[in-house]
Amino acid sequence: MLPKISYIRPNSLREALKILSSMGTYVHAGGTDLLGCMQEGIYPGGTMVSISHLQELKGISRRPDGGLKIGSLTTLAEIASHAGIREHYSALALGAASAASPQLRNQGTIGGNLCQRPRCWYFRGDFPCSRKGGSMCYAVGGENENHAIFGGSGCYFIHPSDTASPLIALDARIRIAGAKGDRTMALSTFFLSPKEDITRETVLHPGEIVVEIFLPPAPQGMRSTYRKVRARGAWDFALAGVAASLQIVAGKVERARIVLSGVAPVPWRVAEAEAALAGRLLNGESAKQAATAAIKNAEPLARNEYKVELVRGVVEETILELQAVPS
Ligand SMILES: Cc1cc2nc3c(=O)[nH]c(=O)nc-3n(C[C@H](O)[C@H](O)[C@H](O)COP(=O)(O)OP(=O)(O)OC[C@H]3O[C@@H](n4cnc5c(N)ncnc54)[C@H](O)[C@@H]3O)c2cc1C
Repeated sequence: MLPKISYIRPNSLREALKILSSMGTYVHAGGTDLLGCMQEGIYPGGTMVSISHLQELKGISRRPDGGLKIGSLTTLAEIASHAGIREHYSALALGAASAASPQLRNQGTIGGNLCQRPRCWYFRGDFPCSRKGGSMCYAVGGENENHAIFGGSGCYFIHPSDTASPLIALDARIRIAGAKGDRTMALSTFFLSPKEDITRETVLHPGEIVVEIFLPPAPQGMRSTYRKVRARGAWDFALAGVAASLQIVAGKVERARIVLSGVAPVPWRVAEAEAALAGRLLNGESAKQAATAAIKNAEPLARNEYKVELVRGVVEETILELQAVPS
């Protein structure tokens, strides 16, 4: 059952920030995750501040430097079908297209996708887990087949977003607005691990709003992709996924970004796999070595050891897929 809530539709970002600076307020964008969280008791009642109609937060536009600006209210469907994103930032188009179902992609926004709450069944269920202020992570000794194999420390949920890893692989930045002003940062620093803060998934403070995401111009020779493995072909969250972006110059990997999804509480960048590719020819041997490096620090729980081999396989296949993509 939904708790008792009030609902406000401010006329501008400025007005929204002013209202959000009071206690007990929540940002409502597409509502596809927020309403579920409210029903599941993650949030008590309060005031829902809907930004869903604010034109200033919508759309995709070209930046003067040749990169792209994506408003936080841009829907996943718009991102998945945008010609410029499909051509130059394919990992992002594929990530957005693989999230949820067509109906949810039409309603769900990129800002909401990055800020959605964990899907862990203990967090969403009737358990006073550490993320809800309790003293333990029930997944450690419980049903942990879908949980993290990297970066768990005290809380083992997996980051649910299929756009976060591609965006980090593409070196995206994010702009946040609050009553006290704006800040812009690399998206890789936006997410908080359980070690940094066990009750928050992002650096957002109450009342702050994600305004937009910036993609830098795609360098010459850059190719990117996203691959997601899920338990069933219809909508489902990732069991494991990988976003890869490689810059290839004269057949050699000049720059590599390999970011895993579905395996850690944050999008998991694997520097070891990137190092295994840097300066090398992109071929079966370098892809295999990168995949082996990607699983080096995995720490599976009792029921999710299968994910280690899954990650190895999906990283190798994804890198090899990029071998065949023309720059
Ligand atoms: C059945 C189902 C299946 C799904 N499967 C997948 C999947 O496979 N992959 C995947 O990636 N996602 C999946 N999702 C999640 C879905 O993509 C998100 O629910 C959606 O993108 C959230 O967008 P929204 O605009 O509806 O956010 P909302 O529900 O409005 O908000 C979600 C959260 O983000 C906060 N928020 C929203 N916008 C902002 C903003 N601009 N600034 C600050 N905070 C903000 C809200 O306060 C709330 O906490 C699934 C969801 C459902 C219900």
